[in-house]
Amino acid sequence: MPDLVLATVSGTVLNARVEQDDRGIVLHSRSGKGRNRDYRQALEIILTRLDAAAIPYEVFLDSRPAQQQPLARRRLSVSETGLVADRFNELVRAMNAGSSSNGASRRVLITAPNVSPRTFAAVVEGRPEDQDGRLSIVQLKLVTPEHVDKAVQYLLDGHDVPNFAPSRDFDLVAPNGSRLAPKKVFGLALQAATGIEARPTHFTAGIGTPCFQILEAAGYPIVRKDEVVPGRGVEAVDPDLAIAEGRPRLVAHLRRERKPALASAKRRAMVEQLGYLRCERCGIVPSAALGPNGDAVIEVHHATIQLAEMASGHVTRLSDLMCLCANCHRIVHRELAG
Ligand SMILES: [Zn+2]
Repeated sequence: MPDLVLATVSGTVLNARVEQDDRGIVLHSRSGKGRNRDYRQALEIILTRLDAAAIPYEVFLDSRPAQQQPLARRRLSVSETGLVADRFNELVRAMNAGSSSNGASRRVLITAPNVSPRTFAAVVEGRPEDQDGRLSIVQLKLVTPEHVDKAVQYLLDGHDVPNFAPSRDFDLVAPNGSRLAPKKVFGLALQAATGIEARPTHFTAGIGTPCFQILEAAGYPIVRKDEVVPGRGVEAVDPDLAIAEGRPRLVAHLRRERKPALASAKRRAMVEQLGYLRCERCGIVPSAALGPNGDAVIEVHHATIQLAEMASGHVTRLSDLMCLCANCHRIVHRELAG
């Protein structure tokens, strides 16, 4: 059977040979100059992971001379409640009992009769249990729209998630028109939802995948890289910005209503209520009038708060927001600029 790969949380692969056979997991002895140098760390990681998964186990001496003895007589006593470091010392004492060497790190067999070999290997390697290392749909569905909002905000704030590459084929369009790598956004959201360090191998991205479905259900359109999104890319030459130049308070207003988390929550609330997005000024339903990507023209406007009240620290509620089509949004701002 193949060896298992033991790596620390930070991804450093240990110098320790860990083999799985039909009895359990075998940690080879440490000997010579560099062979299985990380024996101690490996054993501690294995015990820690089994504890964390609440899997009962037994440890047996498995060195060559010991193999003559029946398994029951090779069992190393180890407390299952003590500190892992103490347990290691206890094990080493037990494996050297009656021999002249004190600190030798001998080959041990760890059995876990209550779990399948597959689960055992997955737990010991510290990875999600699945032959491809993919997370289950149940785990992916732990991601809520709020996790997605926070992930989008985090990336818009200029942070990065270095273990996820930039997107190749698709972009997630943030409410301010910024384009983000969908897989990166989902990885971050997944991390917040599950508490595990998300990796690109945990899930696939693409049309029809749970990743894309969950992102889109959270109110974020996903488009092909070469696709121009109507009503989005125009913000750089937005007349609002020209208006805003001489009006610092209107700048604050714009910044506020571009808060992506709030804007996407507003969009979501409308979809939950009506089943689609509609402009609250002219009534257009862009997905019906403009085709499948029509929703991209809906923007979220800060409706009721007077500019004078936009002091810092003001808490915006969903009821303060309006969904407007890009045309109406411009007109409303022209009116506000008066
Ligand atoms: Zn409109």
